[in-house]
Parts: sequence; structure tokens; C-alpha cells
Amino acid sequence: MDLHTLSLSGLGKLLQTKQVSSVEMTDYFLTRIGNNTDLNAFITLAPELALEQAKSADKRINSGNSSLLTGVPVAYKDLFCTEGVQTSCGSKILSNFISPYNATIVERLQNAGMVMLGKTNMDEFAMGSSNENSYFGAVKNPWNLNRVPGGSSGGSAAAVAARLSPVATGSDTGGSIRQPAAFCGITGIKPSYGRVSRYGMVAFASSLDQAGVFATAAEDAAVVLQNMAGFDPKDSTSIDKPVPDFQLELQQTLSGKTIGLPKEYFSEGLDADIARAIDSAVELFKSFGLNIVEISLPKSELGIPCYYVIAPAEASSNLSRFDGVRYGYRSEHTDDLVDMYRRTRSEGFGDEVKRRIMIGTYVLSAGYYDAYYRKAQRIRRMIAEDFDNAFKQCDFILGPTTPTTAFELNSKVDDPVAMYLNDIYTITANLAGLPGISIPCGSDKKGLPIGLQLIGKYFDESGLLAMAHQFQQHTDFHKQIPTGYQA
Ligand code: GLN
Repeated sequence: MDLHTLSLSGLGKLLQTKQVSSVEMTDYFLTRIGNNTDLNAFITLAPELALEQAKSADKRINSGNSSLLTGVPVAYKDLFCTEGVQTSCGSKILSNFISPYNATIVERLQNAGMVMLGKTNMDEFAMGSSNENSYFGAVKNPWNLNRVPGGSSGGSAAAVAARLSPVATGSDTGGSIRQPAAFCGITGIKPSYGRVSRYGMVAFASSLDQAGVFATAAEDAAVVLQNMAGFDPKDSTSIDKPVPDFQLELQQTLSGKTIGLPKEYFSEGLDADIARAIDSAVELFKSFGLNIVEISLPKSELGIPCYYVIAPAEASSNLSRFDGVRYGYRSEHTDDLVDMYRRTRSEGFGDEVKRRIMIGTYVLSAGYYDAYYRKAQRIRRMIAEDFDNAFKQCDFILGPTTPTTAFELNSKVDDPVAMYLNDIYTITANLAGLPGISIPCGSDKKGLPIGLQLIGKYFDESGLLAMAHQFQQHTDFHKQIPTGYQA
């Protein structure tokens, strides 16, 4: 049976009706991963643990004490701590780090009975938009092996797009779920800040980081998110707010709701094929009875400069814990303690991470704090106010996820600013803490997928998932499998 062509619910049903066992299913996906190593989507595979988890899932299914997720495989971005399994964050400095505990989301999905296939490749410490900043090598886009899958959750996105795993987790600090979902032609949701626990997710920029899900379809993402979300006493920034029934809400009435199209998202710099695909998607939403209004997010263009002060500032502080003493890699040839710190960090971190640590240290230093960090915080507030104003006029904000489709490998590695500009449409949602989703809505002349982004009101993941689901009921972009991965 072609298990990889099935959705998560399709797989769940096969398990529940005992047509396929979790051991067989797990074995099937592990074999598929083994046959497609050219993508470099995984850093670590955990076949023994996976088969053990699959066996206990089968027992649970037999005993009748199971859910739709029990026995279904999942892959985790390699910044979620997984007990007993390497958690590298795509970095040399954590390349020998075995976590002694599970991240809350790992624990929760494990409790639901999901089976961990392994850990996916990523840009080092989630810094990047192309997955070329990994110590373990670049990930390739399954739609075209000469192109990037997007970043920083590129391994998770490539794995789901090539159907190596039915679903995967990711993290999004400035676009790292939505942008790779767009480049790989799949669905990716970044929930509101605080909706999902960050406990055990290695921190990049704590006030922006949020965990989310990749799946082919929104209805699958809804089930996984349901099980991940909710208050966690171990994360003081997680919100104590009831989690709605995302699956039930998929069918909510959308007719009469309003979509806002920010004029700033449709200006110069947007690829013509993308603009066309978004226009047709808007027409489809209109036919569902949604109203369309033009809105303005006047501070959008300040998103990138603001983010590239705040995120590096937080990163420089978060990454100070990697010093060769507490975790991971330690340089071997050192003279004294200070020399050991210096060499460990020089050898253990890659160029982009060092660049961020230096920017962060600079903007936080006494002489420059007011000029950069404090100013960026003020702009962050203004960006959030832009959204507050926009949401007085509409329920959802719709636009492209990215200004271009997947670009060529090596084409932007030497130009950090060009790389940073990829996140122009995604980054402001993180600065404001709002939820966002990217869904496939077409392909360009080169056959590369195009992503449509919806941004919702605080904690309206239900609305985003419903919009995505109802769109997917009328389109089949999310069902396309890249040539080469169909069989
Ligand atoms: N591309 C952005 C960066 O490099 C966002 C990364 C992310 O969301 N983790 O920081």
C-alpha cells in the first residue's frame, strides 16, 4: 500500500481498523527516509526507539485506549529536546548533546501515541531562511534539488513535502515554519505566541519563538496542534487559556467574515506569478461569501530592521550558555578557562550564528542600547498597533507568504541582507505575537510551489485552520507530490 500518499487521518484510520500496524507503518516511513537521503532532511534517525514506540502504540490500539494519532509517525525539528536522542540544533556546538528530558510538545505527542522517526535538519540555532546554515549540510527542495527548501525548518518541510513523514514539527521566530512550507508546497502553522509551550525547545529569540506544525493538509495540522497546544506550568510565557476544538472548528461558517489585503504586501518586489496565484485564491474566498477590503500595515517595512535588532539581542543572551562547560562540544587544545570559552565558541558556532551574537552584543551594549535596542522595541509596539488597527476592519489578513518562490542553492549565502529579506511578509506576525498559516495556492512557471499566508487575530488558530481547510476542500494544490517522490 502507498502509505505515503495518505493524509494523517487516512493513516490513523488504517491503524484504528487494524489494516496496518504501527510497526509496519513506521518501518515503511523509515525505509522511505533511507531511500531519499539525497534531500538531507534528517540529522538523526531513531529507528530502534521508533519501533519500540510503534510496538506500544499497537498494544494501545488493541486495548482500545487510543486516539487518531496513536501509532502515526512524526518528525521533530532538531531543536526540540528528545530524551536519549541527539538534539543538535543544526550546530557543531551541540553535535554530541543528548538531551536528558523531552520538550513538552514531544512529551504530549508521545502521550498521544505518536511515533518519533527522527530529528530534522535545520539552520544552525534556527537562524536562516534557506537551511544552508546547518553544520550538517544544506537541505534540498524536493521540487527541485538545486533549490533551497527554505529555512530554518527546511528539513521538516522537505520531509513532509517528499512524504517521508506525514507530519513534522517546526519553530517560527520570523517565518521559519511559513516560509519553508511555502517553498515546499505544504501547510505550515505558527500559532499565537504563548499557545504552545516552549519548554525544551532550544531558545533562539525567546520573545519571538513559537512551535508549530507542518502537514500536507490543514485538517492534519489541526489534529497535531490540538495535542501540542495549551498551558504548560514549565513555560512561564505559555498562556492559560482553553484550547478550542480545532477539528470541530474547521467547519465554522466563514461567509460574512472579512479578509484584509494589506496594500504593502502587493507592491514592488512581489513575483508576478505569485501575485496572480494570490489573486485567484482571493476570488475563491469571495465565492465562499467572504468580504474583501484593502487595508494598510504602514510600518511593515520596518519589520526586518526591527527584528534584526531584537532577535540577535535575545540570541546573544540565550547562546551565552554554550561555553564548553555545560553542554556539548568543548575545544580540546586550550590554555586556560577564558581560552577554552573562546576556542569552544569560535570552533563550535558557524558564521551566521557568530554574526548574530556580535550584532546582539553590540545593540545591547551601554553606548548603543538606546539608539538600537530601545528604538527597536518602540517600533515593535507600533507594528503590533498596525495589526490592532487592521483587525478593526477585518478578521483575517491575506497575502503572499514570500516575495519569491524557492531560490537556488548558494545564490544568497554571501549576502545576508538579501537572505533576511525573505521574511518580509512573515516577520511582523512574530513581532506582534499573532498566529499565521501558509498554504499552497499554485505554482510558478518553473513548477515551484507558491504559498499563501493568512494572519489571524490573537489566538484565532481555529479561524486560520478553517480558512485553510475550506480552501483545501476546493483546491488540490496541497495534494501535489513532487515528481520523484510520488512512488
Ligand atoms: N529567517 C529568520 C532568521 O534568520 C527567521 C528564522 C526563524 O524563524 N527561526 O532569523
